[in-house]
Amino acid sequence: MSVTAPSAPPHRPRRWLGLLLAVLLVSGGVVYTVEERERDARARPSATLTPPAPNQSAKPSKTAAAVAARRVAIDMILLRRAKAVQTVDEALFLRDIDPADKPLRAEQKVLFANLVEIGFTELGYSQAEERFDQAVVRTHGKSAYLVRVLMRYQIPKVDFTPVTTELGYVFINRNGRWVLTDDDDLDSGLGPGAHQEAWDLGRIEVLRSSRVMVVVEKGDTQRGRAIRAEAVEALTEVAKYWPRHWTGSVLIIALDETDVRDARFADEDIESAASAGSTFSSLPGQDTADGTVAGAYIVVNPNERDRVDEILLSHEITHVATADLGGYEPLWLAEGAAEYVSWRGIEAISGPGEIATWEQEVIDEALPALTSLPNDAGFYQNNVDVYGVSWLAVRFLVKRIGLKQVEDLYEDMGAHGIDQAARDRILLTRSGLTEATLWMALQGYTPQR
Ligand SMILES: [Zn+2]
Repeated sequence: MSVTAPSAPPHRPRRWLGLLLAVLLVSGGVVYTVEERERDARARPSATLTPPAPNQSAKPSKTAAAVAARRVAIDMILLRRAKAVQTVDEALFLRDIDPADKPLRAEQKVLFANLVEIGFTELGYSQAEERFDQAVVRTHGKSAYLVRVLMRYQIPKVDFTPVTTELGYVFINRNGRWVLTDDDDLDSGLGPGAHQEAWDLGRIEVLRSSRVMVVVEKGDTQRGRAIRAEAVEALTEVAKYWPRHWTGSVLIIALDETDVRDARFADEDIESAASAGSTFSSLPGQDTADGTVAGAYIVVNPNERDRVDEILLSHEITHVATADLGGYEPLWLAEGAAEYVSWRGIEAISGPGEIATWEQEVIDEALPALTSLPNDAGFYQNNVDVYGVSWLAVRFLVKRIGLKQVEDLYEDMGAHGIDQAARDRILLTRSGLTEATLWMALQGYTPQR
């Protein structure tokens, strides 16, 4: 049986920080530009050196009124878009799309069909901040209004709470009426995975069972069914081998795309078969720097869609079933737990022989190549088998304190393991070891067989 291919990172809140800072800097620049423009506008009348006449003060308030009117008009468009999906009214959805832009209208028809097929119980769009981009003004004219939009939605059973994703829309005023003219000009200025949700990338088909939802290309029904069947098996394994009682449904996206959500299968050094990426009830930077993780969706590498099996999916579903705990656990614990579950599945299928061989390989080859437990930084770029070492550490902890206690440790880490001091404190309290002494203990570890 082949070894589970390493998976891409679950979407750690911490990974957003660098990006978030970059975004904040950009926003700062935008605010400055807008203020500058307003200052210029205010400066102009006074340049005449005549005392302002009473009626001249109407000018700035006229601008403010226009901005307010635009805000209301765009809010109404966004309301109509959400209502159109919920009432399955394509004409209403297309009503505010630039009539002159035939390709955009065609894309929006696909988007509409996809959104209806997903079947949201809740869907709403709201304007975040205005963004300024000279190139957008050049392309779409002076009325162009570029705005970051928050899409808040809930997929029944998959999302325990409403979650938020980002979009960037460009509206223009055509003969006094606002219309949507572009939906991707801001994409590079948004967070990872924005505008690359399952419904953003082409016509999809959704296959469901009671706890699984699989998204494939339209017409790729047979493959979708196969993946769904493996996922149902994998869910059983996660329930059997990981003590946390998780009752959620899992969303698996298996499209012919290399960039879906925050998964990047094209430019990765290590070929990964699938990844579990976070959903956020509050995006990083929205209320807190890290955001609030609500859960995770699985994205399958397009080249691996035919090799998806219960072993691979039980690893990824373990990530999904622990995603809402907070996301602060160290990667060695997250990946070790996921590997623990999937290897228990292998053991059940093929007996203890294969697992013993693998464990010895990790001890003989991977362990001597490292000097500490694998760090979060560079984890997924490491050439050493850090998955194997993480798995060994979790196996060791299970033997030492028991599986239920390891799961409790995971929950504590997920919620509170915000830095090394906190992690060591939690690990010490719950296992009697710090990361350093756990590493030392692994050096002398001989598995009982
Ligand atoms: Zn993983």
